[in-house]
Amino acid sequence: MRDLRCLRCQGRMGHVFTEHIQLGKTSMIFGDWPNLLAGALLTEVYCCKNCGRLEFFAAEPVDDSPELPQVICPVCGRSHDFDFPSCPFCKHNY
Ligand SMILES: [Zn+2]
Ligand SMILES: [Zn+2]
Repeated sequence: MRDLRCLRCQGRMGHVFTEHIQLGKTSMIFGDWPNLLAGALLTEVYCCKNCGRLEFFAAEPVDDSPELPQVICPVCGRSHDFDFPSCPFCKHNY
């Protein structure tokens, strides 16, 4: 369980559910994701208790580049290619 703050209002984000989402069929939700994959992704859904904003997080690493090892960012918990000098999601510097 993550301790998340809403990007919009800084309200507390509560875990709603974790579910396998078919990315290919949910382009309305994931249309702006950089790595849009066909297939199921175990996704954690959080909702802001203050303004109702929904946030989606991958609950397991997204295997979009099998030739590169993935590392899990200790700050935001997302996985990315190991050769990034800093986390591409939260800009954490290692
Ligand atoms: Zn909010
Ligand atoms: Zn990060």
